[in-house]
Amino acid sequence: MYVKVLGTAQDAGIPHSNCFCPNCNLARRDKRYQRLAASLSIHFEESNKWFLIDPSPDFKTQLDRIQKETKWRLMMDGIFITHAHIGHYTGLMYLGKEAVSTNQMPVAVGENMREFLSSHYPWKQLIDLKNIKLETLKFKQDYQLTDGAGITPLLIPHRNEFSETFGFIIYGRQKRLLYIPDIDRWEQWNVNLGEVMRDIDYCFIDGTFYSEKELASIGRSYQDIPHPLISDSMEIFKPYKDTCQIYFTHFNHTNPVIGGEEKYRREIEKNGFFILEEGHEFNLSD
Ligand SMILES: [Zn+2]
Ligand SMILES: [Zn+2]
Ligand SMILES: [Zn+2]
Repeated sequence: MYVKVLGTAQDAGIPHSNCFCPNCNLARRDKRYQRLAASLSIHFEESNKWFLIDPSPDFKTQLDRIQKETKWRLMMDGIFITHAHIGHYTGLMYLGKEAVSTNQMPVAVGENMREFLSSHYPWKQLIDLKNIKLETLKFKQDYQLTDGAGITPLLIPHRNEFSETFGFIIYGRQKRLLYIPDIDRWEQWNVNLGEVMRDIDYCFIDGTFYSEKELASIGRSYQDIPHPLISDSMEIFKPYKDTCQIYFTHFNHTNPVIGGEEKYRREIEKNGFFILEEGHEFNLSD
């Protein structure tokens, strides 16, 4: 069993539409700097099954890559959704009758997300036409995928206008991975971080913005952005970096870490952290 990284950008991807900042321009010139919206897949080689975490607006490209590069020429066996911001669920539209037209695809979501999808078109149409079948995920309640492997949802503080926000612990027979693409502030998370991190081997966390300097350059201040800064997260997660490989993901297009200047990436690596990249695979069964 392994987890594959399908995307590592903030909801709108990189280049960002209608933006001509240095990172976006670089990404237009050089494909290596492009990033798809944050998303993961979970693969079980023995049973030939796979699951998708967060159907993003880049769903089409991401599905194509799985079916081409891994020769996994099947639709997923189920979908899990973290929350109702555009980068994390709108790929569901490709399951409808204008596109793939799936039959009762299981889509596991929190109770508020379930209410949101069930009461708003076009999402409601997917349910009415039985393209998808909603399943309810409950906080801290394990969702088994196969023997010894599954997903545990954690509630995350994140401006929850339409739904709750989940982080996921994805576990296999040997290893556990924590995925939190969006969080407002670590300080607002009502948990004992040491306890959460105890048995985690890989951790992919919100790396949307790098520093106050980056925010100042786009005329924003830390107070009005609902994400932690990478520079602060490195301090908060320092105690865990020796027992867990910690990666940043969900990068905003302005983040210098994903631009042409290597010094930012080196700074992160010097501190013992990593940058998540599309195509990375993480084995959880041995
Ligand atoms: Zn997001
Ligand atoms: Zn930009
Ligand atoms: Zn969000």
